[in-house]
Amino acid sequence: MNGKNLTLIEVFGFKVKVNITWIFIAVLLAWALAQGYFPTVYEGLTPIAYWGMGIIAMLGLFTSIVLHELAHSVVARAFGMEIKSITLWLLGGVAEMTDEPPHPTAEFLMAVAGPIMSVALALLFFTVAALFSTGGDVTPIGAILHYLGTLNLILAAFNMAPAFPLDGGRVVRAALWAWKGDYFWATSMATRMGSIFGLVLIALGIVAALTGAGLGGLWWVIIGIFIRSAADASQFRLQAVHALKGRTVKDYMTRNPIVVPPEITIADLIDNWIYKHSFEFFPVVEDSKLIGSVSLREVRQVPPDRRTSTRIGDIMLPRSPENTIQAGATAADAFTKMQGTGNSLLLVTSDGNLIGVIALKDIMKLIAITSELGRA
Ligand SMILES: [Zn+2]
Repeated sequence: MNGKNLTLIEVFGFKVKVNITWIFIAVLLAWALAQGYFPTVYEGLTPIAYWGMGIIAMLGLFTSIVLHELAHSVVARAFGMEIKSITLWLLGGVAEMTDEPPHPTAEFLMAVAGPIMSVALALLFFTVAALFSTGGDVTPIGAILHYLGTLNLILAAFNMAPAFPLDGGRVVRAALWAWKGDYFWATSMATRMGSIFGLVLIALGIVAALTGAGLGGLWWVIIGIFIRSAADASQFRLQAVHALKGRTVKDYMTRNPIVVPPEITIADLIDNWIYKHSFEFFPVVEDSKLIGSVSLREVRQVPPDRRTSTRIGDIMLPRSPENTIQAGATAADAFTKMQGTGNSLLLVTSDGNLIGVIALKDIMKLIAITSELGRA
């Protein structure tokens, strides 16, 4: 989801981002509420009034999801886990954790904080809705509040499904982890349950769609596919961390990479470096100091007729924490950094000097070999 997230606001130091899919869903949701839901539950208003209700309800749901994720994030931070940002997407939010929970209790409390917040919000909305209802008649505000109360209950219930990485799956993992004291096994079991739960949803969705539920059934299929792929990604990440355990960047890097000076032109780089060595990534070094890197990605962005006049120094990616890593860092750190930044190659430094390059494909090969060997 890199590159498709826009930062909306910052709350308590957490960046709240929105995935572009959410903008599409937001419009669709406001439309469905304005055209379908509200005209049915509350008759006799103008289309503009229904659109107003639809948009307010959509924003209310959006705020509810942010509060759910903030509850997770605040508890996570209290236990020392770093939360990079909160991203809202298709069906809810994802708090991006960079660390794993330190112990089962932390995981349990962090997991239940979100659903507890949603239930609390539901109670709040229902209470205020009761205050707004005049002698049993529903008001437009009452209809919106009732909708938000119901949606928050659904959000809490859905998230408590025992399917990792949903909140309920995290509760299951915390329980299994506390029971056997084996984090690896607990995660493996919880993600497997997540994968099965996803499959069940897909199957139910298809059955529902075929027996007349139409679009409603399709919705379950989409959710099922998401949960399955999220569970499988968690399982892969776990295997990766397991495979990379105890290994450092130094073990997997290519030493003494071929470097280029910043003053050569792109044409020169293509003829005398890229074709000659058949590499696609070169550290840029000036006066034996590492200043950046250049790859095919940067070269491609310059039109062919300007390649004889453009210097490498003008198009290189300057050295930054995103594209460098210490030689002593763990291979798992390098893997996490590559996933987080989208850079499949990192410059390896020791005491600030370039000593090598580490590639995602080398790390992936190691993960594949380790999981092949681990299979009975
Ligand atoms: Zn949650």
